[in-house]
Amino acid sequence: MIQGDKPSGYGIFTNPDGKKREIETRMCVHCQMKWEYKPGSGIRRGYCRQCNGLLCGKMQCMKYCIPYIEKIEGIEKGLNFKELIKSVEKKRNIVGVTTIKKEGKKYL
Ligand SMILES: [Zn+2]
Ligand SMILES: [Zn+2]
Repeated sequence: MIQGDKPSGYGIFTNPDGKKREIETRMCVHCQMKWEYKPGSGIRRGYCRQCNGLLCGKMQCMKYCIPYIEKIEGIEKGLNFKELIKSVEKKRNIVGVTTIKKEGKKYL
């Protein structure tokens, strides 16, 4: 689980020339997508105040707060995305999702 700006993991990336380098990764709290952490990369990511974690920037993740675990549970119950949003909306309002830029943070 990502807390604030701490890395969620590390990985080894192999360059095309065969050189290895260590990278720091971040993970989306809504879909668990991982990406390489590059401050100032210019890629727009988000932050969810409800989950207290980073978002990958995909529309589905940025627009609605559906934590990964609830998404999986919903899919197991056979809900489609619309029904999933409804089931989550009942529990919380979805105001907490914002972009990093609005938070005054660097792009990740
Ligand atoms: Zn995501
Ligand atoms: Zn969230």
